[in-house]
Amino acid sequence: MLYLGGLGRSGTTVLERVLGELPSTCSVGELVHLWQRGVLDDETCGCGKPFSRCPFWNEVGRRGFGGWDRALAARMEELRPRVDRTRFIPRLLAPRLLGRHRAALREYVTTFLQLYRAISETAGGAVVIDSSKHSSLAFCLRTEPAIDLRVVHVVRDSRGVAYSWTKEVRRPEATAEAALMTRYSPSRSAALWVGHNLFFGLLGLLGTSRRLLRYEDFVATPGPVLEELAEFAGLSLAPGALDFLDGSSVMLSPSHTVAGNPMRFRTGATTLRRDDAWRSELPRGRRWLVSVLTAPLLARYGYLRRSSR
Ligand SMILES: [Zn+2]
Repeated sequence: MLYLGGLGRSGTTVLERVLGELPSTCSVGELVHLWQRGVLDDETCGCGKPFSRCPFWNEVGRRGFGGWDRALAARMEELRPRVDRTRFIPRLLAPRLLGRHRAALREYVTTFLQLYRAISETAGGAVVIDSSKHSSLAFCLRTEPAIDLRVVHVVRDSRGVAYSWTKEVRRPEATAEAALMTRYSPSRSAALWVGHNLFFGLLGLLGTSRRLLRYEDFVATPGPVLEELAEFAGLSLAPGALDFLDGSSVMLSPSHTVAGNPMRFRTGATTLRRDDAWRSELPRGRRWLVSVLTAPLLARYGYLRRSSR
């Protein structure tokens, strides 16, 4: 399975949708939210149907768990805060340090394994693309040897990310409460950006298959990036496999994503373009603050070079 990791607003949803157009892949959105938003809250699937009426998810539920069970979803939501949190990452490095939560980790990860298998089988043996993004879930998953985990670590310029987190974005799939996506102050998103990126770097150092990808490089040259990622995912592309892509224009078909940026509902021709609104819209003081707080990693990822402009 291919796991798209990184801080939110780094372009993971658009990357996931485009990757999902490759043959033998199945993009399912942010699976970490499947239990609450899909099974319990019955939010809208990327195909436009409520989760409970989506044939794809019904089949996944049947294969994986003999049908979706609210008790199982509630159990997963109960387990998540016990093991799948950023602050537990140091302990996830050596699960024996989790003490009594070790059994909870096994149960949590085994259920994800069952879920990935059911999705892959339903999609005819496809590579599952999970854009859950959180570093903590990746650290949980790496403890299960039966999961062939390959992580695409997506980074985007911290100032673009910070600007995006200050904007008000509506969640069209939300029923009543939480109709707006979360917002963060620039200093908070800068701190999260550094933390998540360091953790994904660490994941690679620990031996998990990891590929670093700059969002800006993906939108600038999607074709070569897709070829490289397909190889990373173990897919061999037949001639014409990238026909859905024409320069920077992609043809998106509906997908069964359970959660993610509202962009997940978009279908048809879509142009990939770099979103540089932050250069004019993020006030100078805030831009400076984010630049200072994230400078070492910005330099490491090549964002401070003149050519990257
Ligand atoms: Zn669906």
